Amino acid sequence: MSMLGAEPERYACSRAGCSATAAWRILWRNPKIHAEDRMKTWLACDEHVDYLRQFLGARDFPVRVVGVHDEDARLEVR
Ligand SMILES: [Zn+2]
Repeated sequence: MSMLGAEPERYACSRAGCSATAAWRILWRNPKIHAEDRMKTWLACDEHVDYLRQFLGARDFPVRVVGVHDEDARLEVR
């Protein structure tokens, strides 16, 4: 049920009320409070990946969407 901050024990969608298995990892940063090298991670199912990406993009946050199993993506933070 907790969404922000906690490391998920399994890949479940970060959208409130959704417990679907996530297929996507959304890397984002709030430039006002996060350092350049600090990226937050949300997880999203197929249904909610666009919603969450737009939610963050509308705030002018840097957003990057990668496959949930794409390990290489963890290393590249932009
Ligand atoms: Zn979902």
